[in-house]
Amino acid sequence: MRPMNIQKLVSLNLNVRGMSQSATLAIKDRCRALRAEGKEVFDFGLGQSPFPVPEPVVAGLREAAAQKDYLPVKGLPALREAVASFHQRNDGVEAHPELLLVGPGSKELMFIVQLVYYGEIILPTPCWVSYLPQARIIGRRISMIHTTYETQWKLTADRLKDALSRVNDDRRPRLLILNYPSNPTGVSYTQEELKALAEVLRRYEVIVLSDEIYGQLHFRGQHASIARYYPEGTIISSGLSKWCGAGGWRLGTFSFPPDLDWLCHAMASVASETFTTVSAPIQHAAVHAFNGGPTIQSYLSKARRVLEALASYSVATLRRAGIAVHQPDGAFYLFPDFSPLADKLAARGITDGRTLCTDLLERAGVATLPGAAFGRSRNCLAARLAFVDFDGAEALRAVQGIPDEQPLSESLLRQVCPRVMDGMDAIAAWAVS
Ligand code: PLP
Repeated sequence: MRPMNIQKLVSLNLNVRGMSQSATLAIKDRCRALRAEGKEVFDFGLGQSPFPVPEPVVAGLREAAAQKDYLPVKGLPALREAVASFHQRNDGVEAHPELLLVGPGSKELMFIVQLVYYGEIILPTPCWVSYLPQARIIGRRISMIHTTYETQWKLTADRLKDALSRVNDDRRPRLLILNYPSNPTGVSYTQEELKALAEVLRRYEVIVLSDEIYGQLHFRGQHASIARYYPEGTIISSGLSKWCGAGGWRLGTFSFPPDLDWLCHAMASVASETFTTVSAPIQHAAVHAFNGGPTIQSYLSKARRVLEALASYSVATLRRAGIAVHQPDGAFYLFPDFSPLADKLAARGITDGRTLCTDLLERAGVATLPGAAFGRSRNCLAARLAFVDFDGAEALRAVQGIPDEQPLSESLLRQVCPRVMDGMDAIAAWAVS
């Protein structure tokens, strides 16, 4: 038989040569390996919701188990109706069932939108791990805008205007991906900030892909969409993975405004030739999730309380140890910046994100992801912590019946989420050692 080495050398698409597995999945493997060796690891690496799927949604899936037909490529009509009213109810924006697209996770829809849209992709950093590799795989031109700790890692209208006006052809096709509450920082935008960004985007006719997958996990239930201020140019991305704890179910949604119907139709054509349709039982079950109701509301309010209390404990603990970190508004992430300790760390041989995270894992037993995974430079001394190492079902049971106005005590948190608290304490002890 002839060896296949020649094939191997020349036939791999240039855009994917040298690519490795997504950083978050790689850290999961490393944690598993360390645990197998008997080491204790606080797993703040992978951003998976710790909460179970709400019971009415699980019941919906049970009932729909026998659904076996292919569904329309854009998604089950009842689901598209439910998602449209979800956006109207929660985000105060008009959504159109015929301009909704249901996909096997919003990640897949993001890949397809970057494939069909033939323009430049603008990414404020730090940003979610997959935007950049996706744009690279497809071969899109990418323009990054690096935000700073001082602006809470947020894109400001001035910074955006500056970046958009710098090129000669300021009407060229561009798509900005904006994610809030943010992965990796947990920070979100105020309505004033969204309004200011919307004005700039409208002026330069830039499309915004508004990744609102953590919207329902805004701690105070105050998520607002930029679509309120820039309806004609905003695609809202959402899904079941985060607020509904169903990452493994693989269901995401895109909601398009009428002006962007051409993009919706082009994506549906590609979808029809690729994933065809999302699993039928999952779509039927998702109708229950997006229709909401008292059980889901109560689930969300308990989940938000637990997350907010954990975030507050974590921020206070890290700050006491001299680490710079912003209080998040939602989701389950922190993006602490260790640069105030740079001299001390350098004396310990820690001068970049990779050595920082390796040392945190080996010495403090905490798995984190370096800033470089989020589009920052290799030297960046910020890292993402996903504070999800706890039993979400137990946490929901523990807060059941505690009046809303009563803050969750540290002793309750320590009882229910000991690994998050211990992991934060371990980082603080590592920092001051
Ligand atoms: N966007 C952000 C910011 C995320 O954190 C994730 C998942 O981690 C996704 C999109 C993709 O979610 P899914 O494909 O599960 O809908």
